[in-house]
Amino acid sequence: MGNSISSRWKVRRGATATGLIALSAVLVALVLMLVVAGRPTDSLVAPAEVSSAKGVTNMTQDQKSDDEWRAKLTPEQFYVTRQKGTERPYSGEFWDHKEAGQYKCVCCGAELFTSDTKYDSHCGWPSFYAADGKANILEETDRSHGMIRTEVICKKCGAHLGHLFDDGPQPTGMRYCINSASLAFEKKPEEKAEK
Ligand SMILES: [Zn+2]
Repeated sequence: MGNSISSRWKVRRGATATGLIALSAVLVALVLMLVVAGRPTDSLVAPAEVSSAKGVTNMTQDQKSDDEWRAKLTPEQFYVTRQKGTERPYSGEFWDHKEAGQYKCVCCGAELFTSDTKYDSHCGWPSFYAADGKANILEETDRSHGMIRTEVICKKCGAHLGHLFDDGPQPTGMRYCINSASLAFEKKPEEKAEK
């Protein structure tokens, strides 16, 4: 009696074990199918990331390491241009600067603005209603500090310059609000004296 029960139990246990193996085989197959099916989604995401990374590389031709920029710039210039900082209003070199000439990127020398489009916006930073040779300026959406603003960047070296607002004077109605620390000034040669 005892023997027959234990042998019957063994048979049932054997059947259960076979069933479990079959079941786990099916589960493994299902998991594999899900993994394979999941792959195309991954490969769709990956190229987008690669292409945006390429875009950044193309944008900033004048690439330097942070250490190289630190050696070239003052601490204030480094903080503003390479770390997207903002100088204190009315503290910079050019907010009240009225000489005729050209404003260039302090990092790479790209021509950015001229005194012809500079105006007094009473905001404490040098302000321009238009960029000189817009080819050297890149405008990107900036969502930092809980605001949505347009960041103004040097296209050649990626330096942070300032922000762009739409409360400027005519003819453009735009205000390029730029940090003095991002700019180097080159005085216009006095042509009239030569003539
Ligand atoms: Zn630059």
